[in-house]
Formats: sequence, structure tokens, C-alpha cells
Amino acid sequence: MRASASAFLLQYYLSRKRLQHRLAEHQQHRLNHILRIALEQVPFYKELYGINPNQLDPELRMIDIVKTLPIIDKNLMRAAGYERLLSRTTKPNLHQVTTGGSTGEAFQVSMTQLHRKRRVAVLYRTYFAHDVRPWHKLAIFQNTPPGIDNSSWTGYPKSAFVDITADTSTQWGFVRESRPQILIGIPSILCDFANYLSLNGHHYRAKAIFCNSEMLMPKQRKTLKKIFGVEPINVYDSWEFGNIAWECPMRDGLHINSDSLLLERHPDKGILITDLYNDVMPLIRYAIGDDADIDNTACPCANPYPRLSSLQGKALECVVMADRSERAIAAQLCENLRFFKGVDAYQLVQTEPGAIELLLNHTPETGAFEEYKAWVLDTFKLTSVSLRIASSKDDFIVTAAGKRPLFYSKLKHQKSAN
Ligand SMILES: [Zn+2]
Repeated sequence: MRASASAFLLQYYLSRKRLQHRLAEHQQHRLNHILRIALEQVPFYKELYGINPNQLDPELRMIDIVKTLPIIDKNLMRAAGYERLLSRTTKPNLHQVTTGGSTGEAFQVSMTQLHRKRRVAVLYRTYFAHDVRPWHKLAIFQNTPPGIDNSSWTGYPKSAFVDITADTSTQWGFVRESRPQILIGIPSILCDFANYLSLNGHHYRAKAIFCNSEMLMPKQRKTLKKIFGVEPINVYDSWEFGNIAWECPMRDGLHINSDSLLLERHPDKGILITDLYNDVMPLIRYAIGDDADIDNTACPCANPYPRLSSLQGKALECVVMADRSERAIAAQLCENLRFFKGVDAYQLVQTEPGAIELLLNHTPETGAFEEYKAWVLDTFKLTSVSLRIASSKDDFIVTAAGKRPLFYSKLKHQKSAN
């Protein structure tokens, strides 16, 4: 039988009761498989661990063994070389994703097509837990040419892709035409879209909004709720692992997808993740660079999976001040840019400590820039704000992952290139 994402989803639902009681057993079983593959077939782990799988103490449980193994991260893996990270020398038709758009340093993760479908199912499980139904249409704000996917690849609800590099008016035209009930995207971009609608007197109500890719800040939550009439749902995800955790319907923490991922918290390194299914390129105790507490207490919503609380990390974009201290104010600086009338493409670029440059695709109305500049200098104590009008779309910076970020730090880019 050909496994599809919908078959996985059905399997999850059928096994939900069983998993509630046997989650630890299931994790143990999967870990056993992944660790053996890593120890026997992956040069990177063979070298790093220096353990012969036959010497493992049979009395010890894998879940205890794994906690004694070295912690890895993107830099360590990248330095080892891509070929040494794989379990197979022949790799027919692997699915590949590339991480690292925000830092400009790409890192490639490979998986089987089957695993990719499993990830899609895990994502839709989140949507369905928040009352999304198969007949709803989803608008996904991402870096894809606009178009309608009649769900041939997922077998799930229809998806409309909204091009995030397009001007906001074009995005609005597309959304108005395709009329999705569900909006999915990066919070800063959805907020930008929301503010555009509000300022131009357009109304759009959504049944649900899912925010991914970066931290959903309290102010963004408020903006989205006010304009779309519904409280957004936070999804914690990454290119390496797909959907990691998602906000509980009771709004108290994010449930971890513990049947696919094993999460630990390290006092210095933060969250460590082990993918329980990726046996092509195993990721074991991978420090993802975010931090949160893991809450194992029972949730009132009856979901048996543990929760993440007080999640910190992910694109809390920082602006470097003149004294080189960093403040997480990029989202606030960007949100107010929408108030330039007639401007539909912009980007804020940090050029020097304490200095930002504003790139717009049209000259703003008289006085608008001066007003913005005064607000930034006064409120955020930056030392310089300059204006540049783009001569073409190519003037805007696009990251290695193809994103056109609202805020881009040239300082961070230089730092990571050194
Ligand atoms: Zn819950």
C-alpha cells in the first residue's frame, strides 16, 4: 500500500488512545532504531560516539543511554561534511530542506519521502485539533508563486499560497479572490498584512490563524486578534524537525509532538531534539538554539503529550544599539512602517550599530519619514535613521532561503560570515 499523509493521519487518530498509555514505550522503541542506525551506519556518529553497538549494556534503556551522548548542533554537523551525516550511500529520491535563512548560512537536512508525508500529517493534526475541517481553505503566506493547490500532494484541505515577496496590495487581491478561512504564516508578515487591511478599510475575518517560523509576540497576538477577529495559534517549528510543538486549545503552553520527537532541556544549551523517525540523516540531541521549560503535568485539554512553557528564542530579532547592546525591537520598528501611505514594499536594514536604513519602493508623503524617524530616535534611542528609495524590486535583500525579511541585519550577516 502506498503510504500517504492522510493514511498517517488516520493512523494517528486510531492509535491515539494506545499512545496515551504507551508513549514512553513507543519513544523507547523508536530511539532504539535511530541509535542503532547512527552507531552502525553514520560515519559522523560512529566517530563522535566511539561506541560499538554490541558493547551497549543490555540492562540500560536507550532513553537513559541517549542522555549520556554528546550534544550536537548545526555547526558541528556542517563541519563534518554532508556525506558523513547520512546513513545510506545510495539515496534514491530523498526529500531535502535547507535551514539557516536568517543567518545566511545554509544547512541541508535530508529525509525519505515517507518521513516528509509523516511531517505533513503531524502538521495537519495540529490544524485539526484547532477546529480546521477538510472543507476549509487555507491561505499559506510563503515564498511561493501565488496559486491554488488542489491538495494533490497532501490529500487535505485546499491551500492557497500567498507570495510573501509580493506587495501587500497584491496579497490582499489574492486573498480576497480565493477567500480562505484559515491564515497561516510568519507573525510579522501576517501582522503587516493585517495592518494594511486596517489602514485601507478592508475587512477580513478568519476562522483560525496559525503563526509559525518565529516567536509570536504579545503585541502581534493582539494585532491579529483585533483585525481578523480570532486569537492566533502559535506553532513552534523548524526546517530540521518540522512541527515541534503547538499551542494547546486551552492556551496554556505548547504540546510537543512527542510521538515523533524526543525533547530534553539542557541548562546551558536549551532545548535538545532527537528526531525519532529520520533514519536517513539522524539528528540526535541537536541543540536548536531555543529555550523553554518542559512541563510534564497533565493538561486540562486531555492531550497526553507534555508541554513547552515560556518558549524563548526563534527570531527575537535584535537591533544592535550604538553601545553594542542588543534590544529585541525589530518587530516593533517594522510594524509601524505600514503607516506610510502609498508604500507597499519596504525593508529595514541595520547598517551600523545604532543605525538603520529604511528602504521604500515609493517616496512617502511629505513629513511621514521625518515623523517615523523622530519616533524611532526618541522611543528606541537609535542614533541614525536614513531613507533610501528603491529603484527596483532587486534592491531589497532576499535571504539564502528566499525570504525577503522586513528586518535585515547586515551586522549579523558579517558576524556569521567571519
Ligand atoms: Zn492541552
